[in-house]
Amino acid sequence: METVLSGIRPTGNLHLGNYFGAVQSFVQLQHAYKCFFFIADWHSLTTHPHPENIRKSVKTILAEYLACGIDPEKATIYVQSDVREVCELYLYLNMNAYLGELERVTSFKEKVRKQPDNINAGLLTYPSLMAADIIIHKANKVPVGKDQEQNMEMARKFARRFNTIYEVAYFPEPESFHLSEKALKVPGLDGSGKMGKSEGNAIYLIDDEKTIRKKVMKAVTDSGPALPGSEKPEPIANLFTLMEIVSSKDTYDYFNGKYNACEIRYGDLKKQLAADINTFCAPIRERITELSSDEAYLDKIARLGAEKATESAARTIREVREIIGFRPAPLS
Ligand code: AMP
Repeated sequence: METVLSGIRPTGNLHLGNYFGAVQSFVQLQHAYKCFFFIADWHSLTTHPHPENIRKSVKTILAEYLACGIDPEKATIYVQSDVREVCELYLYLNMNAYLGELERVTSFKEKVRKQPDNINAGLLTYPSLMAADIIIHKANKVPVGKDQEQNMEMARKFARRFNTIYEVAYFPEPESFHLSEKALKVPGLDGSGKMGKSEGNAIYLIDDEKTIRKKVMKAVTDSGPALPGSEKPEPIANLFTLMEIVSSKDTYDYFNGKYNACEIRYGDLKKQLAADINTFCAPIRERITELSSDEAYLDKIARLGAEKATESAARTIREVREIIGFRPAPLS
């Protein structure tokens, strides 16, 4: 069975864009692949040396992924900093990673522009940590956005380089797995573009009914179509896209018909959309609340994930040490 791995940033709560754009696919993937999902708390140190409430953020993300349907018995969901073997592989990869190639990475150059006062080695070697995260489990497929393509190319390069230097066919070259071609692009509520936490236009899975309604009722609209069958301007098309995602086909067809007949009342459409978003979110929200209050359960799940991920990582490190020529670590 092929192995899929995905990293999750421990920042903020999940919104509908994250759910329909990524998490929903992860829930499906766990039935067809051996899946590893890790919460990338070490990576966050490259930009936030004093991560505020990192343990709380990690728990929130864990609770939300579980509430969405990640099954800890099927997939391995773990916290990156719980698997120290990753650091050892990161060190080996860094020994054969070159300054020039690391400096050329676009995301590094962007970070240099964004935080000129903190250009740390962690930022520079982000691609080798990412490669270590992936190849430590010999993952074949990594669901990533297009912006990660260069880092994926680096991961393949580091895997290939290890194989070449030590004359082995040990690490598979991980492939990018573009969910975005299959997954939905969820629009925001502010008239244009995608839903995103930094855009301030998101509905979070944890939002209560009142908050959802307030956000939806504030969404940008216009005075309605001038002629029957007019094309929908972006803010309106976005509301219909959201409706297509969360509402029944009948509901969508009803409002679409009203629009095409120039009889649309946006207030009614928004009320219906808010109700349907709430119907979708309510069971997930309840589960998030329930899980978030059960610290002991979340700890148990994190421990189970750490055990499974460490077993897989430790096997790789044992073999890598042997390939390079080190003796087995005495305490492993
Ligand atoms: P972010 O928290 O913005 O890094 O998003 C994490 C992942 O969620 C992204 O890599 C996308 O796969 C997905 N995602 C975020 N926002 C959207 C959106 N509006 N529509 C579809 N997918 C999204």
